[in-house]
Amino acid sequence: MENVLLKNINNPGGHTLKNYLAGGGYEALKKTFKVTPDDIIQTMKDSHLRGRGGAGFPAGLKWSFIPKDPTVDKYVCCNADEGEPGTFKDRGIIEYDPHLLIEGMIIAGYAIGAATSYIYIRGEFEFGAKRLEAAIAEAYDKGYLGKDILGSGFTHDMYVHRGFGAYICGEETALLESIEGYRGQPKKKPPFPALSGLYSKPTIINNVETLACVPPIIAKGVEWFTSMGPEKSPGPKIFCVSGHVEKPGLYELPMGTTLREIIFDHCGGIKDGKNFKAVIPGGVSAPLFKEDNLDISMDFDSVMAAGSMLGSGAVIVMDETTCMVKSAYIVNRFFSHESCGKCTPCREGTIWATKVLRRIEYGAGRPDDIELLESICDKIFGRTFCALGDGAVMALRAFINNFREEFKYHIENKKCMVQA
Ligand code: SF4
Repeated sequence: MENVLLKNINNPGGHTLKNYLAGGGYEALKKTFKVTPDDIIQTMKDSHLRGRGGAGFPAGLKWSFIPKDPTVDKYVCCNADEGEPGTFKDRGIIEYDPHLLIEGMIIAGYAIGAATSYIYIRGEFEFGAKRLEAAIAEAYDKGYLGKDILGSGFTHDMYVHRGFGAYICGEETALLESIEGYRGQPKKKPPFPALSGLYSKPTIINNVETLACVPPIIAKGVEWFTSMGPEKSPGPKIFCVSGHVEKPGLYELPMGTTLREIIFDHCGGIKDGKNFKAVIPGGVSAPLFKEDNLDISMDFDSVMAAGSMLGSGAVIVMDETTCMVKSAYIVNRFFSHESCGKCTPCREGTIWATKVLRRIEYGAGRPDDIELLESICDKIFGRTFCALGDGAVMALRAFINNFREEFKYHIENKKCMVQA
């Protein structure tokens, strides 16, 4: 399959406007201006493009929720916070093909009638932020941004807003709060951002990879996009593969490629000839799978039906030497560190679970610690303000349910079963 989203990943000059134009860049924008905003929204609906940030919500449907009133300001926000451990796909697009994202955002702005857009980029992505700012300046210089773009009568301004490294600012309402200068904490929904988002105005928030899919859909057509992957979840997808594989990295593959194909065909199998043990299919919030789930189609619906999440497409592979207690401890410690503290079950529960996991890991586990962890999970799940709490619980339950014997061994023998 020809790379579309990652076509410049190994091209040192690929990020420049000159290179982008040479590859047909901004032709989709020209096509866009020949049709109505509603036509663009319908095209997005027909493409069945689903949000690549994790939720998998249909992008065209989200855009169609924006009120049509031309007197109301509207905004496009790109979620480039990319904080889910194991995820590094948006960074690849930002650093190597920033104009692909910028073009997608201008098209989104035209579709919903937004004159302004923001790219909320993770604070640690200093290089990426500079690349984006340079690309935006190039786009202004050549008339792809600013007043009366390409003589279309459409005006659009774009800004890069740097975050400060908080995982929770990848949650859309926390992201909006952060842009407005408030503490980055989730807000109650409804109202949803499509009706009351940035500065209480209608706002669409899409992930980098989602917006990067827009220009190729317009340029190559809906049929091209839907020819890849399952009917309800089509298109190319970037998988970020890390952990114990021979060739970790970014892989652009059709949605619906199986985990087995990703790990063993594309990534060269398990590192150093060791045996496979488990895989997290969509970032650390996604419950892990064992070998019996390796033939699952990697698309939103199939992974969910199997009890996990496609999430951001971050595939983390673990071989036979991986201690699952230590892994659960590290994952849970991350969530407790990143909890924003707004609601008690998440704030206190993730810290409590981390303490219990830590004592098991370091040989001080107590006989009833597994039941205690399950009880903490029960008290967090479904009782938190945003998805962070539920994500922490789903991940932890999967570690315990799939590797209960390892947890028991750790407690009873005060050491690890696989790393003894
Ligand atoms: Fe904050 Fe956690 Fe509550 Fe989300 S679930 S609002 S991260 S305390």
